[in-house]
Amino acid sequence: MKILVINAGSSSLKYQVIDMATEQALCKGVCEKITQEGSFLNHKKGGEKYIEYIAMPTHKEALSAVLKILKDEKWGVVKDLAEIDAVGHRVLHGGEDFKASAFVDDEALRLCNKNKPLGPLHMPANILCMEIMKDLLGKPQVAVFDTSFHQTMPDYAYRYAIPKEDYVELQLRRYGFHGTSHKFVTAEAEKIMGKKEYKLITCHLGNGASLAAIKDGKVMDTSMGFTPLEGLVMGTRSGDLDPAVLEVIMKNRPIKDVSELVNVYLNKKSGMKGICGKGDMREVQAAAEAGDDDARLAFDMFVYRVKKYIGAYAAALNGVDCIVMTGGIGENSTETRKRILENMEYLGVKLDVAANDKAFGEKMKISTADSKVDVWVIPTNEELVIARDTQEIVNKRK
Ligand code: ADP
Repeated sequence: MKILVINAGSSSLKYQVIDMATEQALCKGVCEKITQEGSFLNHKKGGEKYIEYIAMPTHKEALSAVLKILKDEKWGVVKDLAEIDAVGHRVLHGGEDFKASAFVDDEALRLCNKNKPLGPLHMPANILCMEIMKDLLGKPQVAVFDTSFHQTMPDYAYRYAIPKEDYVELQLRRYGFHGTSHKFVTAEAEKIMGKKEYKLITCHLGNGASLAAIKDGKVMDTSMGFTPLEGLVMGTRSGDLDPAVLEVIMKNRPIKDVSELVNVYLNKKSGMKGICGKGDMREVQAAAEAGDDDARLAFDMFVYRVKKYIGAYAAALNGVDCIVMTGGIGENSTETRKRILENMEYLGVKLDVAANDKAFGEKMKISTADSKVDVWVIPTNEELVIARDTQEIVNKRK
């Protein structure tokens, strides 16, 4: 089976074709600057790269460009588009309606439209792509939600302590995100542990960052909330803060409304960027090493917040068997991992410093043989989760 995986953002669209016999990507790429001047397609196949500037006033032109390149003689991976068996879409938000991935039919699209207000920046593009693809390709489609893996959280973990009617009427609760990534590394860790009963903490540390507390394959808590803003200090997002801070900011800074406060100030200008002017961990680390004290602080705050959440989740789970590090930072930043995991003997974590120094973008154990808690670096693969779910759901309906 060949599956086309689509991950649409408001102005970008990432894609991959995955051959399920080998679970390898045959090609991958991204359409950038959709709806803007200078839009282009950046396609990769077999280690080679092809860039084409194409007008993409909407996601429809972007999807057409993707389908065209997929059957291109040199850059394509199929002779005929009929060889693509199904399409898997990453969809940001499933609300409380989707506890698992779902076949895309009229009812699924209706529910996605109902949940559009929960993800106003991403959901319109996600829905549009499912609708357009139905017409352009006419193949079965599956929606894979960033939130659904976290739907097993108990009510005391997902509810906010605000008036009940605001949960009932406004769907205000914690949903969690990065679900496909937490799900992928959970399955990998389960294979490594070789058991079905376990206590696991997964740390997805990328530009966006979140932790999940997992018991026997089920999420018990996760650090992102109603939106991906809650929890850790991230590249450009504040993570947890006292909501009363917002009143002071609104009264004293030239911010026109609450929407700007949330979508610009807290999402794009805060986090490590707000503290030291840099949101990219590589740049933060380089500046800190060069003696920039604000960058040192940004790094320390990032690390400290992750440490606190690991402690909280170990308490929530009544212990922990395994900790997994993933995402761009978790997979590659030896220094961040070291700083998070050192001084955790109280929990039974003993870092193998030499192994940690070597672990760079590959699956590797980084705790010592006598560590009570196993710590692993496991590179994530969200596209593969989407493709696997798509294959399973399409096969079930045959
Ligand atoms: P996204 O959340 O957008 O998918 P990624 O998971 O790719 O992002 O993570 C991006 C982050 O990973 C950036 O902060 C980047 O600096 C960081 N990163 C990638 N490689 C390294 C590295 N070698 N050392 C430190 N940080 C790294």
